[in-house]
Amino acid sequence: MSDDAPICSAKGCPAPASYALVWNNPKLHTPDREKIWLACEEHRESLSHHLASRSFLRRVDPLDRPA
Ligand SMILES: [Zn+2]
Repeated sequence: MSDDAPICSAKGCPAPASYALVWNNPKLHTPDREKIWLACEEHRESLSHHLASRSFLRRVDPLDRPA
């Protein structure tokens, strides 16, 4: 693994991220702005639900990580 392997954004989670959750808060951000949270398999659902429940979530992209 390289040193720049992306890590899950969930609090205290050291797992490598497998997904990028792309979101935008229209109250804070212009429409062209994209914020990204990284998530591992385990946290993808809870993090995306957190964003989706606030209508911030735009999409979930799988991260292309070399095996
Ligand atoms: Zn995680």
